[in-house]
Amino acid sequence: MTAVALIVGHNARAQGAVRVTDGRSEYDWCGDLAAAIRDHAPGMYTVIRRQSHPSGYASEIRNAYQHADALGVSATVELHFNGGPATATGTETLTSGTKGSLRLAGLIQPAMVGALGLRDRGIVTRGRADRGGASLWSGRAPAVLIEPYFGSREADCQAADRHYAALTGAIHRACLAFINGA
Ligand SMILES: [Zn+2]
Repeated sequence: MTAVALIVGHNARAQGAVRVTDGRSEYDWCGDLAAAIRDHAPGMYTVIRRQSHPSGYASEIRNAYQHADALGVSATVELHFNGGPATATGTETLTSGTKGSLRLAGLIQPAMVGALGLRDRGIVTRGRADRGGASLWSGRAPAVLIEPYFGSREADCQAADRHYAALTGAIHRACLAFINGA
């Protein structure tokens, strides 16, 4: 049984932010990231891609998280990278603030900071109506949304590339610790 759903941020039509170094979108780059995390323990993960929905964003998110719930997962991790001014840098994890989501965020945020060595922007709590909030609140399983680095900053992209294997391993070990009750 799938323990963790890895949900790729954005969708094929609206692919999110792009990396300044190579123009790769969140949808593209995070799809590879999801596959690389899954490769650490293929039976543990299902990768879910969001599909743009004619009824709009809320339906797109709801469908992805209903899929995760139907698999009976213990947690969901939605994969993104950040965008902003060229000076913005660092790693952050969004949480709904529920007990399970906070426990997962508390494992995954320091793991990513350790892997990338970028500034620790911390764990950020988002309500349902906040940006990214629908992803945190739509499913039954504890959910986090990760922003390991800023695609808008060259040095952040380079850190993500240089430490890619460490990043995927860190995220995997955090998920494993979560499902093992750490
Ligand atoms: Zn995004």
